[in-house]
Amino acid sequence: PSQRDPLEFLNRARSVNKKRTINERRADFDEIYVEKPSDELSEQASRCLDCGNPYCEWKCPLHNYIPNWLELVRKEQFDQAAKLMHETNPLPEICGRVCPQDRLCEKACTLNTGFGAVTIGAIEKNISDRALAKKWRPDLSNLEMSDKKVAIVGAGPAGLGCAELLARNGVKPVVFDKYPEIGGLLTFGIPGFKLEKEVVRKRREFLEDIGVEFRLNTEVGKQVSVQSLKDDYDSLFLAMGCYKSVTGNLPGGETEGVIKALDFLVANVNLQQNYQMTGYPFQSMQGKKVVVLGGGDTAMDCVRSAIRQDAESVTCVYRRDKKSMPGSPQEVKNATEEGVQFLYNRQPLSIEEKNGQVCGVKLAETELQRDFSNDRSNFVVNQDKTSLLEADVVILAFGFQASPASWFDDIGVTQKSNGLVITQSTNDPDLPYLQHTESEGIFAGGDMVRGADLVVTAIAEGRQAAREILDYLNV
Ligand code: FAD
Ligand code: SF4
Repeated sequence: PSQRDPLEFLNRARSVNKKRTINERRADFDEIYVEKPSDELSEQASRCLDCGNPYCEWKCPLHNYIPNWLELVRKEQFDQAAKLMHETNPLPEICGRVCPQDRLCEKACTLNTGFGAVTIGAIEKNISDRALAKKWRPDLSNLEMSDKKVAIVGAGPAGLGCAELLARNGVKPVVFDKYPEIGGLLTFGIPGFKLEKEVVRKRREFLEDIGVEFRLNTEVGKQVSVQSLKDDYDSLFLAMGCYKSVTGNLPGGETEGVIKALDFLVANVNLQQNYQMTGYPFQSMQGKKVVVLGGGDTAMDCVRSAIRQDAESVTCVYRRDKKSMPGSPQEVKNATEEGVQFLYNRQPLSIEEKNGQVCGVKLAETELQRDFSNDRSNFVVNQDKTSLLEADVVILAFGFQASPASWFDDIGVTQKSNGLVITQSTNDPDLPYLQHTESEGIFAGGDMVRGADLVVTAIAEGRQAAREILDYLNV
């Protein structure tokens, strides 16, 4: 494949990775996509137009050098492609799996005008997987270590994004997390059928090899005080996520059989990975009628997990229409294929109980009123059109709000009225705020600053924080 044919996309159709059969998928928590052989990856990469203005690159929050590494993949120079990927993205195999490409890079691909976008995410995942399987590491032999060290609170995507860039620039990152494994929501949130836990473990080995140190099972504020981190380190990066579940305050919301989405998902991981964490009792959905309230990524992860636990029926209830769902359309499609039923335009009014146990959800129909100033539609609830949906279990997946730590005030970290951490603002429309908080030498990023969002945006903020920290430390 030495000569690039700019019209290759006319000869070769977009071909996505095949999925395992529905019956196989429903029977385990393994990933659903089957790997493509390398020659097919190169063929798919050769569809890239290499347009002068790569919209994909602009739309990717990390501004990955997408056309450049696609060209290397086309030429089957996989190691070089992996190296280039890592210059902008510390977790390419993870973004390739969990980014909503249909809203980001692939949506912006010029070929997404009837020809089918280049399969950017799948190629990124496969090339990085191959590099990690061969234990590829960047050559840091000429790196001079400074005497600086930074404490990072939280080993989720924001914390890892910051740690990687610091380590590559000669600053020692020490990452504290209260959980027994790294990854934050990558491990204790997103289920294995989207991201197998082995993938995160391989990335951990990589990070440790380049000098990142992890102190797990260590909650800052409990096992170690934030004051000791301030005293012992040159700077602090807070990347603690956003964990307060929105419950909707539904009457009956405290009934036995009503579960919060994240408690359900973490209990699954805890059991499957044998972490022995307390506070996450496992509740099997086998043979039960399960109703999930909400329409985002978390709701999709819950419905698909319940299917895999052999629930009798799984219904997702969402208050707007299918088009307005906040989650990735791809995930809605996967859930539908696996047997999840969707009930759109329904607002839950209350959770009904019988003998102290959930027996159903009272729903009212909604009518959308298009609001053209906003992507999402407003709706009105029609209290005259109600119905009862039977349920043995109701899972609440309405999203998350900020969960600020009690010790933020002690270190001068300020918050907005909604609890999100305030960082310094700028006059630059492309970078409206920095990651430096209002407390000197303390930086923050990811969900705790921007609100519950995406893996890739959390990584981007972690990297931005690392750049600011390097500047602050004069390294
Ligand atoms: P987190 O990933 O939440 O990590 C924060 C870490 O901080 C945690 O490990 C926590 O234990 C640790 N921590 C907190 N307080 C302390 C303390 N005091 N001491 C020590 N450690 C502490 N995004 C996508 O792009 N694609 C998806 O498919 C997707 N699916 C999702 C599915 C679910 C169920 C959920 C809940 C979210 C999903 N997201 C998805 C969103 C994405 O996971 C988050 O936006 C992202 O993980 C945020 O990264 P973060 O580093 O800011 O925080
Ligand atoms: Fe696309 Fe996400 Fe990869 Fe960026 S990081 S190229 S948005 S899959």
